Amino acid sequence: MSIDNIIPSIQNLPIYTASVWLLICLGVFSILQEFFPFDKSQPRVRKDAWVDVVYWLASPLVYASITAGLIYVGFMAIFGGNEEAAVAYAKSGASWAIAMPIWLQAILVLLIQDFSLYWTHRLFHKGKLWNYHAIHHGAQNMDWLHSVRFHPLNVVFHSVFANALVLWMGFSPLAVVALMPFNTLYSAMVHANLNWTFGPYLRYVFASPVFHRWHHTGPDEGGNLNFAATFPILDVVFGTFYMPEDKVPGPTGIYEDYVPKGIIGQMVFPFMPNKSS
Ligand SMILES: [Zn+2]
Ligand SMILES: [Zn+2]
Repeated sequence: MSIDNIIPSIQNLPIYTASVWLLICLGVFSILQEFFPFDKSQPRVRKDAWVDVVYWLASPLVYASITAGLIYVGFMAIFGGNEEAAVAYAKSGASWAIAMPIWLQAILVLLIQDFSLYWTHRLFHKGKLWNYHAIHHGAQNMDWLHSVRFHPLNVVFHSVFANALVLWMGFSPLAVVALMPFNTLYSAMVHANLNWTFGPYLRYVFASPVFHRWHHTGPDEGGNLNFAATFPILDVVFGTFYMPEDKVPGPTGIYEDYVPKGIIGQMVFPFMPNKSS
């Protein structure tokens, strides 16, 4: 099975596509952060912004083949090594999924993936897995660009796994690919320096920048709460929702002291002895 047979649109994401999304987000969120800033004193351009630009541009190159490989292994396991059956299933999805319009599949994929992302994110806050995720909690000045700063192993067992899961279940690759622009923009939005809470009711339905900013505060505040990527109702159901009405999130990036600032340091950080946690 060639990689093209598995999920062409994902694995063919070239670096210029990432560049285009980087420019779109730069345009959209630079303007929004100007008009609705959460932290007015935050610099427009962080000193460590280049680190996140490298993550942004390198991610499609690194994760395309990892994604395809993981999906391939799963399909071969499902079909007991029958490559022909696996290719047919991988290209169009399962028969129950084909019966549904793509928009409906995309909504179901979004819901299932958010459930998966909630639990993998929660797992990455525990034990040794935390060392891989701590990198994401490193930056003190949070903005939209920070949405991509993850250790590769964190990405594989979090977002790559969420994509593989729905494909193994039989959803069309098109439904997964169709969600990518939404996921890119939504993740950038919740990390942006914006004061949006989505009000007293919608805050429970859709993740807002303030909801996720709480997640980036210390473990004595919201740092071990608010795990949902898109739907905070998961945090409500599983008892981890935190958005007090009478407070605003305190400082973020409290792990800056021991998480390395450079990319190489961040890549090897989980494997180094004598970490602070
Ligand atoms: Zn986290
Ligand atoms: Zn985050």
